[in-house]
Amino acid sequence: MATNNIVVLGAGVSGLTTAYLLSQDPANKVTVLAKHMPGDYDIEYASPWAGANYMPMGKAGSNHEAWERATWPALKAITEKYPEAGIHFRKAFIYNRKKDPQEDIAAFFTDLVEPNPWYKDVVPDFKPIPSDQLGPDMDNAQEFTSVCINPPVYLAWLVGQSVKNGAVFKRANLKHITDAANAHHTGKKADVVINCTGLSSKFLGGVLDEKMYPARGQVVVVRNDPGPMMAVSKTDDAPDEALYIMTRAVGGGTILGGSYQKNNWDATPDLSLANRIMARAIEIAPNLVEKGQGVKGLDIIRHGVGLRPLREGGPRIEKEKINGVSVVHNYGHGGFGYQASFGCADTAVSLVKEVLQEKSRAKL
Ligand code: FAD
Repeated sequence: MATNNIVVLGAGVSGLTTAYLLSQDPANKVTVLAKHMPGDYDIEYASPWAGANYMPMGKAGSNHEAWERATWPALKAITEKYPEAGIHFRKAFIYNRKKDPQEDIAAFFTDLVEPNPWYKDVVPDFKPIPSDQLGPDMDNAQEFTSVCINPPVYLAWLVGQSVKNGAVFKRANLKHITDAANAHHTGKKADVVINCTGLSSKFLGGVLDEKMYPARGQVVVVRNDPGPMMAVSKTDDAPDEALYIMTRAVGGGTILGGSYQKNNWDATPDLSLANRIMARAIEIAPNLVEKGQGVKGLDIIRHGVGLRPLREGGPRIEKEKINGVSVVHNYGHGGFGYQASFGCADTAVSLVKEVLQEKSRAKL
């Protein structure tokens, strides 16, 4: 059997999902190289900071929609079959406010809060919330069954599954994408390198993608559990502040979010923003705390800041030859890296197959 030597650069949700899918084919010998691995918390590593849930945001008819559409069945199957993966089903409530102009966070949520969204036939139990049950400042609202992922548990599960399939994990901090081709665990040159370096694709030699920029997300993780997940189209506090709540599976705590601060690289939690996040969460979900307790009733585990790896024009999933090395890119997933993970990784795997076929044809 011919073997394919493949290096995946990056161990966030994009790299790990791609490695997990590639490792399912015994012909693929997969090495995963990364500066940061599951267990690390670092501002350069977005994946551990995510909520993370499935609240689709892709424009109808776009690649983004196709990737999110393709990801739901995969996440659902993992949730049902592998409780140890750290994902559970949760009810989600989505609220769209009349007064929100389509800017910043409201624009980010436009397709999620749309009253007749494409995803209504994808997620189970979708139904509009009748208008007589909504406050006067709400345009529309809907509920459906979604999932909430516990990223530290889920990322470690992806590592475990890939290792079980023969993948080898190594730490590395590369200056140039082509260096990855010489770091395959067999000592042989890689046939193809998958670039899953997220926001760092802006700085990685051979890639230097100037279209990459961060959207800073600040969260408060608490022990309180309000039940269902919630998201609101916008807040009154600032155009780049958000309001969402989700409780992670298997004891991961409840994420109170958030913010969507474009081009803000600050890794330090802003405590006045944290106070606004907590106050807004209690306003929409008063059962987070005992009556009258207010913010003091929240039992804080930690404050967190992550940088969503945004890219002008959307994620880059394409193949390229760089100094003779075949590279498949899979980065730039903004605030939807988990909910589009399987769709994007599937596309990247198809491109890897194309590269391998081109190579084998060239050898004939
Ligand atoms: P990263 O997780 O950043 O991983 C990049 C990897 O590349 C790391 O392993 C890093 O060490 C490695 N790397 C980079 N450069 C080098 C180098 N030179 N050499 C070696 N290794 C390198 N998404 C959802 O779908 N649902 C949500 O609910 C959600 N909520 C979010 C909330 C917050 C607050 C934030 C910040 C994000 C959220 N996201 C959510 C978005 C999601 O977290 C990201 O889209 C996703 O984590 C990006 O993953 P990635 O693997 O592409 O990048």
